[in-house]
Order: sequence, then structure tokens, then C-alpha cells
Amino acid sequence: MMNRGYFGNFGGAFLPEILVATFDELEEAYTLVKRDPGFWQDYEQLMASYSCRPTPVTFAENLTRHFGGGRIFIKREDLNHTGAHKANNVMGQGLLVKRMGKTRVIAETGAGQHGVATATMAARFGFDCTIYMGEVDVERQRPNVFWMEQLGATVVPVTDGTRILKDAINAAFRDWVTNMDSTHYVLGTACGPHPFPEMVSWFQSIVGKEARQQLSAQEGRLPSRVYACVGGGSNAMGVFSGFFDDDVELVGVEAAGRGLDTGQHAARLCSRDASVGVAQGYKTYFLQDADGQMRETHSIAAGLDYVGVSPILADLKDKGRVRFEGATDGEVIAAVSLTMKKEGVIPALESAHAFVQAFKEAPTLSQDEILLVNQSGRGDKDIFTIADAFDDPKWKQFITQKARQYHA
Ligand SMILES: *Cc1c(COP(=O)(O)O)cnc(C)c1O
Repeated sequence: MMNRGYFGNFGGAFLPEILVATFDELEEAYTLVKRDPGFWQDYEQLMASYSCRPTPVTFAENLTRHFGGGRIFIKREDLNHTGAHKANNVMGQGLLVKRMGKTRVIAETGAGQHGVATATMAARFGFDCTIYMGEVDVERQRPNVFWMEQLGATVVPVTDGTRILKDAINAAFRDWVTNMDSTHYVLGTACGPHPFPEMVSWFQSIVGKEARQQLSAQEGRLPSRVYACVGGGSNAMGVFSGFFDDDVELVGVEAAGRGLDTGQHAARLCSRDASVGVAQGYKTYFLQDADGQMRETHSIAAGLDYVGVSPILADLKDKGRVRFEGATDGEVIAAVSLTMKKEGVIPALESAHAFVQAFKEAPTLSQDEILLVNQSGRGDKDIFTIADAFDDPKWKQFITQKARQYHA
């Protein structure tokens, strides 16, 4: 029991007694489907017919010319249904829930992206769906709340604590404790108690498997370096897992926010501000103070704004297998703008962190080397933040006019 779900010094399952049986049941179901090749086939087929898989790998010819040096390729997770890699995780868990015979799903969400993905999956599979979201986030993320509700989910604003993501996680666990028989908790990233980090990474491994095959077939070689942004760590685990056994350098990019020396960031693995602790049922690096109180985090990308990080990535950092870097809010906005203008793709603010680091390193590689950037999602969802950052006057006028319509 003790070593179950550990990755080096990290991970585990620190659970209240009442949830132990539910986690045992989940682990058993996961172990069974993992051994069953038919399940993975069902999963691939579902993702092909519902979420555009395999997503392409795009040669960023103009960016490559712009920077000189290594050739930049983009894995297009933005082309998934609902606009990000999150679809891989929720649809995978949906199939598992169906096998387990449960009829209701719950989830936590911060920015709302995982909530929308889960509500979409629940609609498709015919599950009841309840999404827990901090009251502050409900106020900040109205468009996502609107979509979750229209998709048929019940969104519960959580009024405990600081009314943000961590409070939503606690509320979701409380729900699970009272509804274990009917309900599955669709955790949104490669964090939390065992088996979630491993199971979510397994569903996301479809990204790396495809990318490895695609580059081998299209270019006859593997990338020298693979870049992914790191929030909880699921898209990074997904793309990295295709290359763990290869001589490929793996680079995780965290949110350096307003700068690593400002305290206003969400950098757990590339800063000195995080320490090892146990919270939310697992052991990893957390941004916490000396008393174990979680610190406030900041990122321009809501999906990277999280105090913990995947225990698997924490272990890979300690082992030196993955290198971690940070990208600041300012660098991210510049990278979004450049990528749009040069390639006509709009990376999500989260994904743009990976682009920032690839752009810094491309000139140092030779022309036959490949840099693979995982574009975890599309930036359409970020229109409010990006328009503010660009300080676009016509956008402001539009919003003001819209507001006036409702006042009239
Ligand atoms: C949620 C999200 C992330 C962060 O989550 P990970 O688990 O670290 O992948 C990154 N990119 C996008 C587009 C997201 O929506």
C-alpha cells in the first residue's frame, strides 16, 4: 500500500478512510482497461470520430525562417473538440465511467476549460454532471459557465475559503464522499491521489505516440527537443511520454508570471519558491509558505495558475530527465502575436509559454534539427485577456457598447 502510486519521492494517495474503497475500485477498473487492447482501440476510434484525432503536426515554416536554426514543428492539440488536449482526458475517463457502470460525473474547474470539456463529455455519454467552481472564478469566467450550463451541467459556485480552484477541489471531494456509488470524479490534470496522475497521463499519451510516429514518417527523424507548457502537467506528460526512451531533450515551461523574483508566478519546478509537501491527497512541490499555507499564484494563463504540479514531473525533474524553464506574461503575449502573424494559428496563452522557450532556443540548433512544440490549445477562449494586453481600442469600444445595450 505504502509505495503504491509513488514516483520516486512523489505522488501517493493520502485519502480519508471513507474514500479508500472508491479509489481501490477506480484503480482496479483502470488496471483492467489498461491491460485490454480493445479499450485503447475504442478510445482511439472515439477520438478519431469526435475530436479530430490524430491531430496533425504542422511545420512552422515562417517561424523557422524568422528565427533561423532548428526547424519548428507544432503538434496541433488546439484542433481537438473543445479546443484543447483536455478532450483526451475527459473522453478517456468517460469511456472508463461507462465500463464501471456509473451514471454521474463531477469535476472541479478553475478557469472553466476543464468544466466545459467534462460537461461536453457528459452530454455525449448521457451522464448527469455537476461542476464545482470557486465563486470568484464563476464571476471571472462567465462565458465558460454559460457553456457548461447550456451543455446540461449544474455549476455549483463554491463559497468556502478564498472561493477559487483549491476550494472547488475540496467541494468536489466532499460530493464524492456522499455519492461514491453512482459518481466518478473526473480530475482535470496529472495531479491528485493515485491513480489519477498515472491514469490522466496514460490518456494523454496519445499525443506523444502520434507525434513520434508523425515526425518519423514525415521527416524520418525524431525531434532534438520537445516543449510543453506545465500547469498540472497533463499535456506535458502526454507529449513527453512519446519520447521518454529516446535521446530527446524534454523541456517543460512554467508560468513565470510577472517574473520569478516577484513572487507573482506559478513556477514550482523552475523557481526556488516551491517546497515538497502533501496537499490535496498527494505529495509534490507546492508553492507554499513555511507553515504549509498555499501561496497566491499568478499567471496571465488561467490554466497554468496552480499551486501543485504532477508528481511524475516532480520526479522527472529530480532525475534530470526533464528541464524546466519559465516564461513571463510579457514574453507570452509577444509569442502569441508573432505566432498568429507568422503562421496564422492562435495558440492558447498556456501553450504560448512553450513557444516562448522554443523561440529562445531555435537559433542555437542546426537546420537539420527539429524542435517540437505542443500547442495544447487554441487561443480563441483568451480573447478578453489578449485584447486587453494588446490594448485594442476597437475591442474596448465594442465591449462598452455591448454593456450599454443591457443598461438601456
Ligand atoms: C488546462 C490547460 C493547460 C494546463 O493543463 P496541463 O494539465 O498542465 O496540461 C494547458 N494548456 C491549455 C490550452 C489548457 O486548457
